[in-house]
Amino acid sequence: MGPSVTRRYRDIAAWRLGRPLKPWETVHHIDGDHSDDHPDNLRVLSGPRPHALIHWYERREARGVQHLWPLEEWLELHQQK
Ligand SMILES: [Zn+2]
Repeated sequence: MGPSVTRRYRDIAAWRLGRPLKPWETVHHIDGDHSDDHPDNLRVLSGPRPHALIHWYERREARGVQHLWPLEEWLELHQQK
């Protein structure tokens, strides 16, 4: 799990981005299926915090919470802090 370990989905995300990933960047599986490494299912995030925020948002959504903001806007709000 350490940053020195090369993971296939990181390579795929880097290919999609057109540049190597920074060590602190994290990759999210958009549909939650970690066996699906299709580029369209991968999202590069600027670090563990926005990644944790997405998972928090999705967990709440799965429990039926009505969010006031769409995910993208909400993430932006939180990343400005
Ligand atoms: Zn994730």
